[in-house]
Amino acid sequence: MKLTKENVQTITQFAKHCIRELGIKSSVKITLSKRQTGQATAGYYNPADCTVFVAVHNRAIADIMRTVAHELTHCKQQEDGTEFPNDDEGLQPLEDAANTSSGKLVRFYGRKNRDIYSDLISEGLQRFLYSSPKS
Ligand SMILES: [Zn+2]
Repeated sequence: MKLTKENVQTITQFAKHCIRELGIKSSVKITLSKRQTGQATAGYYNPADCTVFVAVHNRAIADIMRTVAHELTHCKQQEDGTEFPNDDEGLQPLEDAANTSSGKLVRFYGRKNRDIYSDLISEGLQRFLYSSPKS
């Protein structure tokens, strides 16, 4: 995804949707960045200051949304008083919950906002799929 005004707006709207759906009360700061996270992940959540970092370079919009929803779920987990263990095995149940939650959030949002998948298909097919029937 390119960091155009429209794309940033699309992600912002989705993030607001997630914050509402998850019932997050904290003020969250989300950074969309062209650079990588520096870790073997596409995003991370910093519990110290409720910030979410998401790498966007060479990724589809729906994929970025999944990462946004995943990291926001960690924010909600923290609000609920969840402790984040330091070991991978201890973290796994929290990761599984975030993966389930993010998949669900993107899937249902995508049903009403089909344009989130627009960069996954070619322009020709897009015209075919989204052209209104002529009557
Ligand atoms: Zn995670």
